[in-house]
Amino acid sequence: MTTDPQSPPAIDTSKAHPARVYDWLLGGKDNYPIDEAVAEKLPPEARDAARQNRQFMHRAAAWLAARGVDQFLDIGTGIPTEPNLHQVVQKIVPTAKVVYADNDPIVLRHAEALLVSGTEGVTDYIEADVRQPLRIVEHARHILDFDRPIALSLIALIHFIPDEQDAHGIVRDLVATLPAGSYLVMSHAASDLFPELAEQVTAEYARGGITLGFRTRPEVNRFFDGLDLVAPGLVTATEWDAEATGAAPEPSGIYAGVARVR
Ligand code: SAH
Repeated sequence: MTTDPQSPPAIDTSKAHPARVYDWLLGGKDNYPIDEAVAEKLPPEARDAARQNRQFMHRAAAWLAARGVDQFLDIGTGIPTEPNLHQVVQKIVPTAKVVYADNDPIVLRHAEALLVSGTEGVTDYIEADVRQPLRIVEHARHILDFDRPIALSLIALIHFIPDEQDAHGIVRDLVATLPAGSYLVMSHAASDLFPELAEQVTAEYARGGITLGFRTRPEVNRFFDGLDLVAPGLVTATEWDAEATGAAPEPSGIYAGVARVR
C-alpha cells in the first residue's frame, strides 16, 4: 500500500468530496458537515441510487467470481462499506486477489478495512487518479497477472470524469491492458432516464464544487465499444442480474453493464 505512516493523509473538510457524499447517501459515518450539506439537498432518489449501485457491485462481483474470475482491479473504490468487493469475491473464491484504487485521501485513511484480506487471497490499495490510468496498471502488475483474466470495475466512477478529460480514452486505455477473457464492469449515472432528477442532482453537486457529468445511454454504451456485453446487456443497475435479488427491479437512474474482453 502506498502510505507513509509518518504523515496521515490530509483530509480537506472545507470542500465536499464525492466519496464522502456517497458515504452519507449510503448511511455511513465517514463524512463531514460540508458533505452532508450537499447530500441532504439531493432528492431522496439519490439515496436509492447509491444503494442500488452498491447492490449492483455486489451482484456483479459475485457473478464474476462464480465464473472463476479471481483477479479484480477496482478503481474508484469508495470509503469501505461492508461487504466490500473483496469480501464478496473471496467468499466465493478465497484465493481471489483484489487491487483497489481511489484518489480521495479519506479512502486511503480507511484502507486498512480494505486490506483485511481472507488468508488465502490478497488485497492491495493504491491512492491514485483514474486520469493516470497506466500508473494504476503499473502498480496492479505487482499483484495481478495480466496474462490471465482480470475484472476491471469502474463503478459509479466515470460520471466524475467529463468528456474534456477524455473519459472514453481513459476507459479504452485501461481495457487495452487486459487479456482476452477479462471483464469490464461499469455503472454510470444516466442523464436520460429521469432527466429532471439528473439535472437537480448535477446542480446540487456543482453548488458543492463537484463536477458530475451524467451521460445518455448511447454515451455510456460507447464505453463498451469493441467488447461483448454479457446478458442482459446495458440495463439499469436494478435490472442487472435481477433474478438474483428475487424481487422485481425498482426504477433506477443508473446504467450498469458487464462486458467481456475479446
Ligand atoms: N465504486 C464504489 C464507490 C463509488 S463513489 C461503489 O460503487 O460503491 C465514487 C468514488 O470514485 C469515490 O470514492 C471517489 O473518491 C472516487 N473518484 C472520483 N474521481 C476519481 C478519480 N479521478 N480517480 C480515482 N477515484 C475517483
